[in-house]
Amino acid sequence: MKALVYCGPEECALREMPRPALHAPTDAIVRITKTTICGTDLHILKGDVPTVTDGRILGHEGIGIVEEVGAGVSSFQGGDHVLISCITSCGKCAACKKGMYSHCEQGGWILGNTIDGTQAEFVRIPFADNSLHAVPTEADEEALVMLSDILPTGYECGVLNGAVKPGDTVAIIGAGPVGLAALLTAQFYAPDEIIMVDVDDNRLQVAQKLGATQIINNSDGQAVEKVMALTERRGVDVAMEAVGIPASFDVCQRIVAAGGHIANIGVHGQPVQLNLDTLWSHNITLNTRLVDTVTTPMLLKKVLSGKVAPRQLITHRFKLDDIMTAYDTFSHAMRERALKVLITND
Ligand SMILES: [Zn+2]
Ligand SMILES: [Zn+2]
Repeated sequence: MKALVYCGPEECALREMPRPALHAPTDAIVRITKTTICGTDLHILKGDVPTVTDGRILGHEGIGIVEEVGAGVSSFQGGDHVLISCITSCGKCAACKKGMYSHCEQGGWILGNTIDGTQAEFVRIPFADNSLHAVPTEADEEALVMLSDILPTGYECGVLNGAVKPGDTVAIIGAGPVGLAALLTAQFYAPDEIIMVDVDDNRLQVAQKLGATQIINNSDGQAVEKVMALTERRGVDVAMEAVGIPASFDVCQRIVAAGGHIANIGVHGQPVQLNLDTLWSHNITLNTRLVDTVTTPMLLKKVLSGKVAPRQLITHRFKLDDIMTAYDTFSHAMRERALKVLITND
């Protein structure tokens, strides 16, 4: 089968690879119909994720059709249409019993990391009963791919951890796909203001279409001053960090209002400075989280009912054969005006 293989820092290639086989009775083999590339895949290509070794098939997002299941899989059978969760979970260990699937003792984020992933014709999914979600055959698969990772990540790590409430003023630092997913799902709670901050005018325009009430281009580094001016110097009730660099975390800690929440979504590769000298008396809450995908069933209902339309985040479409071009487009997102790039293998 064809698959996108990591070949060490800065290198990947579309290669012919053996088709995956069942390893455990709880496994399923899924034929991928649609997948996508995540910002995390670009981190991997930079060599930032040492758990990914040469020869690994990348990708942790996708939709497909069950090809084969092990004898221990009871919820799915061949031919079922399924959504693949970016988090694999056994459903039985101590972490899973707490709903913290991201820290599953035998799972967590393993797809396209420590086991082969979804940017291929077929993928093996461990603990299929808990790690796949059934989807109606007539559903809009393009929208559903956004449910593998970015929608639950924006919602759980940003909106739930930020405790967004009616009337709140929210700032989201970073208008990439996950920041925009947080923007879409924050609106479940009717905040009064959602301020989006980025350095890319195209992404900020998309944010405005998706419900941002204010947009700030931080190319001049003045985001803190501008947010404080917009909020009569009170700051924001919720500041979400959706980039993963020290500078954007710093914006969050400078704009959070007394009693407010900082919710970190970004994947950080280096330490940040935490200004406890000013924050110790500010009654703030700081949350971090790896997405657990426990809200995926709810988000799936929201997408199927049309209350959330994540398809709007897809800007480019490629065949699996052209995945190298897709990587090039996604890694030059600003130049190409790219948000999510969809890879089809129908
Ligand atoms: Zn992802
Ligand atoms: Zn578990």
